[in-house]
Amino acid sequence: MTDSDLSETQIIDTKVDYNHRETLGSGLYESNVLTDQYQRRFRYLRLSITDVCNFQCDYCLPNGYQKQTAEPELSQLEIQNIVKSFADLGTKKIRITGGEPVLRKDLPEIIELCKRTPGIENVALTTNGYRIQDHYPKWIEAGLDRLNVSIDSLSPDVFNAITGHDRLRQILNGLNDAYNGGLTDIKINTVLMKQFNANSIQAMIDWVKQTPFTLRFIELMQTGDNQEFFSNNHESGEPIVEKLVHQGWQLKDRGIAAGPAKEFSHPEYSGKVGLIMPYSKDFCSTCNRLRVSATGQLYLCLFGEQGIPLRPLTYNSDTTQLNNNLIEHLKLKKATHSLHEGKTGVTRHLSMIGG
Ligand code: SAM
Ligand code: SF4
Repeated sequence: MTDSDLSETQIIDTKVDYNHRETLGSGLYESNVLTDQYQRRFRYLRLSITDVCNFQCDYCLPNGYQKQTAEPELSQLEIQNIVKSFADLGTKKIRITGGEPVLRKDLPEIIELCKRTPGIENVALTTNGYRIQDHYPKWIEAGLDRLNVSIDSLSPDVFNAITGHDRLRQILNGLNDAYNGGLTDIKINTVLMKQFNANSIQAMIDWVKQTPFTLRFIELMQTGDNQEFFSNNHESGEPIVEKLVHQGWQLKDRGIAAGPAKEFSHPEYSGKVGLIMPYSKDFCSTCNRLRVSATGQLYLCLFGEQGIPLRPLTYNSDTTQLNNNLIEHLKLKKATHSLHEGKTGVTRHLSMIGG
């Protein structure tokens, strides 16, 4: 199959069907929740606290981090005001991401301030797992509820080839300790890549037989910087769904507010398996998340045309103006991304916005 075949056959129609929303019972959602013109509700904020990263993942920062802007990262005060504003508007879950969020020394303080914001029920962290063993006790103390760690291969050599770091064993040991230390909601993010891990999907599924983590396969997304890598490596998640169903895994009903991931469980496995398939039909109809970058830009979509600057409103602890600003801008959110047309928007790589 050639690369052009790939884009035509594997990138499926993403026309969106919102009709199922009319069947929702009234009163299911509160009235103050951020809502767009397609009646999608946004209760989930992915907040980037730095765009800096120390890994060189082939699909994201193959040449390592290069500084793009002199603009400072959000301060704790700004983060507090942003989180308060989103919480006022119905957000219940914050995911702290980056870049690599662990590189910010005040990460525990940021976790804590998110956690103690009235209305926020759940604070999650997405990390590459760097020095997790040293850090996790402080995260637990600060109130972290969930941890996602990116592991694209269980082979130390392949892991090293993808990330530029021979740290797989350390990360797995750290995860084990964090789990035993009380951080039991752990997800592993695995980006599907034809040339790196397509042959080891079954081995990864077997791993969660005894390992109580949720393994999440993510379809590689095209970004401004990774076009060639994308053409050589994009794999659809659909064959994995078929494999799981064939092996007796059952699709969990996660409720309409749970977002676009599909999650499967199996009575003989202690872990679960999830699929995130942004190229599949209707992926965007269940979108429940907004993003704020490390310099305070609001992104309505990972693949939108531009970020919307929230500064200088982020400096004001009276968040009325910021709230109104968010409500107004949400009206501009489009029904779907245009990734299936190869349009990646402003996103050159995910570390820039917060994946
Ligand atoms: N540095 C942290 C990490 O790697 O977990 C957090 C930021 S990273 C941008 C967040 C997630 O986005 C990771 O799970 C990463 O594998 C995923 N990611 C990055 N670029 C991607 C791409 N082009 N397609 C799909 N997933 C991607
Ligand atoms: Fe860094 Fe995460 Fe991007 Fe890898 S995926 S380069 S760890 S930001």
